[in-house]
Amino acid sequence: MAEPEVEVRRSKRRRQTVSAYRDGEKVVVLLPARMSRTEEKRWVADMLSRLQRSETRRRSPARESDSALSERCRELSAKYLDGRAKPKSIRWVPPMRTRWASCTPSEGTIRVSSRLKDVPGWVLDYVLVHELAHLLAPGHGEDFWAWVRRYAKTERAIGYLEGLSAAAQLGIDTHADDDTDEAEGD
Ligand SMILES: [Zn+2]
Repeated sequence: MAEPEVEVRRSKRRRQTVSAYRDGEKVVVLLPARMSRTEEKRWVADMLSRLQRSETRRRSPARESDSALSERCRELSAKYLDGRAKPKSIRWVPPMRTRWASCTPSEGTIRVSSRLKDVPGWVLDYVLVHELAHLLAPGHGEDFWAWVRRYAKTERAIGYLEGLSAAAQLGIDTHADDDTDEAEGD
């Protein structure tokens, strides 16, 4: 994520240490009270790139292959969807222009954009839970979201994906994933 919202908090008790953490969609950076604006700017940029690196390190093992992806889906279905979502096929596809993933409920098939191989595992997990939930509830109605929200990081992951799409100017609509949206080749 190139430009998340950043909140800088200065503390008089803090003398040397700088730290940063993610709070919902924003990043909080804690700085000592006596730090110049120039230093602040440098530290904020530094902490953002450190945070991004550590998040990238936590990529999902599902990125390795279609079978690893299927295995992750089995785990997520068992954990969040009472094991009821059983796709017939799920596979990685080359980056799609307008979507992160798509599901064809009538055929039980799910396709996941290779762009998601580089996001943190918890973000990919959200997308997988979302697509799996479509096998139980095809549209984006309340019944659908009731399933998806069993995955606690749903809102945070949506924020991450929207930020990623905006920062990289991908033009991907986080909520567009139905096959009816657009005829698009895999
Ligand atoms: Zn959807």
